[in-house]
Amino acid sequence: MAKTLTNWAGNISYTPTELHRPGSLDALRALVAGSARVRVLGSGHSFNEIADPGADGVLLSLAGLSPEIDVDTTARTVRVGGGVRYAELARAVHGRGLALPNMASLPHISVAGSVATGTHGSGVGNGPLAAPVREVELVTADGSTVTIARGEERFGGAVTALGALGVVTALTLDLEADFEVEQYVFTELPLDGLDFEAVAGAAYSVSLFTDWRAPGFGQVWVKRRTDQAAPDFPWAAPATEAMHPVPGMPAVHCTEQFGVPGPWHERLPHFRAEFTPSSGEELQSEYLLPRPYALDALRSLDAIRDVVAPVLQVCEVRTIAADTQWLSPAYGRDSVALHFTWVADTDAVLPVVRRVEAALNPYGSRPHWGKVFAVPAEVVRGRYPRLADFAALAAYLDPSKKFTNAFVRDVLGD
Ligand SMILES: Cc1cc2nc3c(=O)[nH]c(=O)nc-3n(C[C@H](O)[C@H](O)[C@H](O)COP(=O)(O)OP(=O)(O)OC[C@H]3O[C@@H](n4cnc5c(N)ncnc54)[C@H](O)[C@@H]3O)c2cc1C
Repeated sequence: MAKTLTNWAGNISYTPTELHRPGSLDALRALVAGSARVRVLGSGHSFNEIADPGADGVLLSLAGLSPEIDVDTTARTVRVGGGVRYAELARAVHGRGLALPNMASLPHISVAGSVATGTHGSGVGNGPLAAPVREVELVTADGSTVTIARGEERFGGAVTALGALGVVTALTLDLEADFEVEQYVFTELPLDGLDFEAVAGAAYSVSLFTDWRAPGFGQVWVKRRTDQAAPDFPWAAPATEAMHPVPGMPAVHCTEQFGVPGPWHERLPHFRAEFTPSSGEELQSEYLLPRPYALDALRSLDAIRDVVAPVLQVCEVRTIAADTQWLSPAYGRDSVALHFTWVADTDAVLPVVRRVEAALNPYGSRPHWGKVFAVPAEVVRGRYPRLADFAALAAYLDPSKKFTNAFVRDVLGD
């Protein structure tokens, strides 16, 4: 019997048992053109069925294509293949004296899969990882290539597209000059009296962590660019030992702390590229809501912390600047993201996810597309003012709905 294909966390078994890995672009085009239904699997780090093509569908990996990373130092751009992960991209970009503006907590995720779901890091001035994308190359349903560039009206639907427009074979991203970052960890920041705007804006990227066993934050990770002002962080005490965001876990897999300056790609993620941070023994959920509601939303979570804490490993609070991608959870609003790393027990976690969603619903929260959520599809749809524009773009580029699956049907209300 064929082995089951699962996501990184192991909570999702994809319907197909075979993963197709075309070895050339021509083979990929032929496979797409000759298949009735196709979905691409990136690095498989999503926690829901977003990548699953369903029965009779083809699940496609770009891991068989040569991993193109083409840095143009004059134009300050990089063209990156659809299967490349951030760790490899970041090393290549840094090696040419350039930088990406931000990274997620983990560098092992694929670039195309990350921008497809609105993946983000933190920082009040930093958009999601999709923000520097300037061009997308897609193999569409009939096997032909379509390029969509920033400046075109339809670009708003092209990057954070949930894999619904075609196979992303390459992305071109804007780069900036190389920079260094110092990372500091502070401990025990109380919720009572929290000046969220000041804390979140204290440095280039700030993350607050709590296990909700107490009404406050056990840790605050502050990532300061060395070309910006030194962080003034009077609200909490500096850590005296290296920390892992999950209390009690060894910090050996975490990026360097105590303000040791280092390249952006070795400080902006929380976890080192050369280690796998865990075996996938977790589930994750995350909700983005307008940043002015941050404190109210945190108080609403504090009110149910007795329900949340027993199934929680850690909750992380980050900020994201407003995005222009129509399906970005940060679309049109400077956002705060409330993230939950749960224990790896779907039955125990789902009722709590529903409680969290009920608590955050009044703030117009939008779930992260790549994580566990139970918000009814019609509620999610109501939170995206440009959804109809996206649906029209998908219908134009993929009239036979080859790249649609149950997840995308729910999103579009098909
Ligand atoms: C340990 C861990 C840490 C994480 N940290 C963060 C974080 O800091 N911030 C955050 O926002 N999220 C985070 N995530 C979530 C993660 O970034 C998203 O789930 C992201 O989509 C993962 O990328 P992937 O390549 O694994 O995507 P997959 O799960 O493989 O795919 C996601 C979607 O992208 C599509 N896709 C992938 N590649 C292509 C392609 N080439 N062409 C067309 N469609 C494609 C798939 O079809 C699917 O719809 C984390 C997840 C894990 C497991």
